[in-house]
Amino acid sequence: MLMPSVLIIEDDEDGRRAVAKLFARADWKVFEAADGDSGVELALQNRPEVILCDLLLPKSNGFQVCRTIRQQLQPTKIIVVSGRDYAVDRASALEAGADEFLLKPITWEVLQESIDRLLTSIPKRPRATASPEELGSVPPRIKLWGVRGSLPVPGPATNRYGGNTSCVEVRADGEIIVLDAGTGIRGLGLALEKELGPETVKLTLLITHTHWDHIQGLPFFAPVYISKNLIRILGYEGARSGLSTILAAQMETPFFPVGLHELQSHLAIEELKDMEFHIGKVKVEAKFVNHPGICAGYRLFTSAGSIAYMPDNEPYEPLKLKLAAQDGIDRNEARDFAVGERAKLVEFLRDCDVAILDSQYTDEEYKAHVGWGHSPMSSTVLLALDANVKRVLLFHHDPSHDDDMIDRMVEQARELVRKSGKAMVIEGAREGAEIVMELAAQRPLKTVTSDQ
Ligand SMILES: [Zn+2]
Ligand SMILES: [Zn+2]
Repeated sequence: MLMPSVLIIEDDEDGRRAVAKLFARADWKVFEAADGDSGVELALQNRPEVILCDLLLPKSNGFQVCRTIRQQLQPTKIIVVSGRDYAVDRASALEAGADEFLLKPITWEVLQESIDRLLTSIPKRPRATASPEELGSVPPRIKLWGVRGSLPVPGPATNRYGGNTSCVEVRADGEIIVLDAGTGIRGLGLALEKELGPETVKLTLLITHTHWDHIQGLPFFAPVYISKNLIRILGYEGARSGLSTILAAQMETPFFPVGLHELQSHLAIEELKDMEFHIGKVKVEAKFVNHPGICAGYRLFTSAGSIAYMPDNEPYEPLKLKLAAQDGIDRNEARDFAVGERAKLVEFLRDCDVAILDSQYTDEEYKAHVGWGHSPMSSTVLLALDANVKRVLLFHHDPSHDDDMIDRMVEQARELVRKSGKAMVIEGAREGAEIVMELAAQRPLKTVTSDQ
């Protein structure tokens, strides 16, 4: 880089001048703006390597500035500087496109360290050119890192389908979205560090619910220990306490040597309020499902089709009828309610390209587990058939099911599909499997197998 340039957007004149001097002394070309709108204008004119932006600005605020600049100048590194350390500000700034969030007052050492780190990735991204992922020419893909329900069960009997609990990685439209943090997330963390090296790991972790098999891997997810990484965790408030309280609880001293608040990465935990939101360009729809406590299913709409993830869910009807019998409620009323709820679920999954669905029990086993919050295989298959899903992965395998047992369940599931006369593809979710979504909708999806 010949003479790097920086744009400082800050309404406080003294503060702005002081930072400008620091950069000038280190041989940077400095541009200054006193409000959001003129900041955006100068950014587009001069395309600086780095932008330092205050959050509370006249005209356009810092979040708006980040969003506008990020849409038009992908390689520029945006550092948001704020006097307030609210987790929600930090998360919103990163969501708006900032690469870094620093607290005032800032020293040259802190700035330099952060700039050095951010600029190491610049040569790989030529100026004003979006990466292939951002341009959408890299097809979205799904990788399964943990497919087991309830408890990890490693060993020879589960070698083929895998023993780790729920974790699915989705790469789509420039985003890394991780679905749940069961023990499978450990392998993902190691792979990300290997792939990205000194670059920042920037990802969003979507939690369905906080049962052990969906959060237990988080303390073993290497990227949370490294300060360069930006990790956003999203999920709904639990039945008894908030998401961050529960995630912190599993890392309290009696259970784990490092506390959640000691983790070095930029970790933002946000409770979702809406049932529809965006992660970058990926639209997400959420639905609460039938499972003890608060548990969500998610559907991600990518540029190459949609992916539904509903790892824990029980069909309504058997449960409602059981409860009706216990409580003396009218059977027809109970059935009507269950039918209505199932119809909503069918709508949620309608025409989905890939659906990763709870199929913990055989139909026989389920009879003894009504009310445990999980599905028997045939109910999952029929649900997916009714919703016209294109491809189903039977997921959340019971810890007592060995590979041969899962093979048999998949065979029975295929038999149900054959009888229906539909062309739905069905298979058992297998740890290490990768699915590439074809960009051209007419081409079939293909599974790439890898040994992780
Ligand atoms: Zn589970
Ligand atoms: Zn659960």
